Amino acid sequence: MINIPKGTKDVLPSQSYKWRFLEEAARETAQIFNIKEVRTPVFEHTELFSRGVGETTDVVNKEMYTFEDKGGRSITLKPEGTAGVARMFIENGLASTPMPLKAFYLTPCFRYERPQAGRLREFHQFGIEVFGSYAAETDAEIILAADTFLKKLGITSTKLEINSIGCPECRKKYNEALKKYFRPYLEEMCATCRTRFEKNPLRMLDCKEAACKKIAENAPSICDYLCGECAAHFEKVKEFLTSQGMKYTVNPRIVRGLDYYTRTVFEFVSTAIGAQGTVCGGGRYDNLLEELGGGKVPAVGFAAGLERLLLLMENTGVNIPDEKKPRIYIAGMDSESRKKAFAITAKLRGQGVNAECDLMERSVKAQFKYADKLGAEYVAVIGENELRSGTVNLKKMSDGTVVTVKSDEISTYLK
Ligand code: ATP
Ligand code: MG
Repeated sequence: MINIPKGTKDVLPSQSYKWRFLEEAARETAQIFNIKEVRTPVFEHTELFSRGVGETTDVVNKEMYTFEDKGGRSITLKPEGTAGVARMFIENGLASTPMPLKAFYLTPCFRYERPQAGRLREFHQFGIEVFGSYAAETDAEIILAADTFLKKLGITSTKLEINSIGCPECRKKYNEALKKYFRPYLEEMCATCRTRFEKNPLRMLDCKEAACKKIAENAPSICDYLCGECAAHFEKVKEFLTSQGMKYTVNPRIVRGLDYYTRTVFEFVSTAIGAQGTVCGGGRYDNLLEELGGGKVPAVGFAAGLERLLLLMENTGVNIPDEKKPRIYIAGMDSESRKKAFAITAKLRGQGVNAECDLMERSVKAQFKYADKLGAEYVAVIGENELRSGTVNLKKMSDGTVVTVKSDEISTYLK
């Protein structure tokens, strides 16, 4: 027996409707915000992520599924969605199309992480990226789109936390301040944080180790280091959110896990799913496209983890509408009537009706039982009488009432 790889999950037939519900909510959200779907490869050249996501991030340092293909190229399974979409934008010259360009994706992502609740090695993201706009409205629109998506899912328990991590200029000063603050504690911090200290102190605020987290609590706040323009941008984002009644708290500890963010960063967090509380994270990344050779193109985006959202919905009792059940099950008694049942079923399907018949050569009694398990709304039994009369008795399973209709007029009755 070969088992499923660690950190991955099957979607069983009885569960797939939940995924469809999530995906449909994502598509509906994109549609009302006029955001077009994009699809990029599941694997890319490793360099796209090491440059795009950033060498000092956990994602690139520890979590990537990287391998050499038979042509000797270093290939990586996408650990996130943004870098691929940015590459697509540059490679296809989409900067010459009307701006802003608004794109969304639903994609699997791969990260070599320690599997636990809400943390998998293959997981799925719904993400939105908007290219071409520096305006604070765009940051606000992205956040409102994420909020719309959560509302469509029936999630009301998340809180929005926002921050600004400024531009590289603000960050230079802030990183110095962080170094000054963290230096005396270095001995007590994890090995990764000690490396971060040298390469990118900002990352130290994102450490998941309890000891490091505790020390980071009193670190200086980025808010005190924003340059005039970044501070003004952040104020505008907050104004737009407030104008739409979007509640938020400013959390100066949010820096996000990926290196490409500038200015606005945000998370929708929940306390109902344990330690992995961030269901959606995003922000502005004005320098990523330039970093990837695409010129100066500002961008804002977010990604939401579908597994975490599902977990949250399950833990907070959010109701996911049930899958549609068969409208009717046509049972057959003997071989002639079974043929008729098969034909009626085929005809109903041709008319767009979800109809079922027996494929297991079961007795009529067992067919009834099965129809009941399927949750079929009606059951009709075809026997000699029905063959002769050309009519069927439709039994409504919920109350046992029976009506007789012509066997070729069932679909009209079901309407
Ligand atoms: P975390 O801090 O939880 O590791 P992250 O900062 O690495 O998250 P992002 O890269 O911003 O996460 O990804 C966006 C979203 O994707 C997260 O908010 C989360 O919902 C989801 N996500 C990230 N990593 C995983 C994973 N290993 N398993 C399941 N979902 C994940
Ligand atoms: Mg992570």
